[in-house]
Amino acid sequence: MASDPDCIFCKIVAGELPARKIDEDDRTITFMDINPGTHGHALVIPKEHSKDLLEIGPDDLAAVVQAAQRLARRMPEALGAEGVNLINSCGSVAWQTVFHFHMHVMPRYSYDTVRLPWTPGGGGERLDQAAEALRA
Ligand code: AMP
Ligand code: ZN
Repeated sequence: MASDPDCIFCKIVAGELPARKIDEDDRTITFMDINPGTHGHALVIPKEHSKDLLEIGPDDLAAVVQAAQRLARRMPEALGAEGVNLINSCGSVAWQTVFHFHMHVMPRYSYDTVRLPWTPGGGGERLDQAAEALRA
């Protein structure tokens, strides 16, 4: 299994760094984020090291998403969550700080202070250009 000796999440997988683990399967582990944005904020990671969304293989990606859904489904009853955000950052410009793929599973509450980080807008011609550039 691919592992990076300098990667803190690989060290968690190997048991070399402590983590508050809450779920595990063949391909993934899930543990509490050490600096939670909301009560119950957790991270799902593949056991095998891959840097980000562009690098992770489809089977690991599918396993991470399924583990994230499994956890999200427990959050309303376990924590009283009223909603959940799944968040993945790919690249430092997109706020990625740990370069081992991870999915944030962030329970949401009507009282929490998390706010949308962008101002919606910029449609029209630019929207058409982006669609043209991205169309598969
Ligand atoms: P990101 O900024 O999307 O790369 O997210 C990295 C996340 O990892 C942050 O929310 C950190 O709080 C979290 N984190 C960093 N080190 C640890 C650790 N040792 N145990 C648990 N979470 C961690
Ligand atoms: Zn790693």
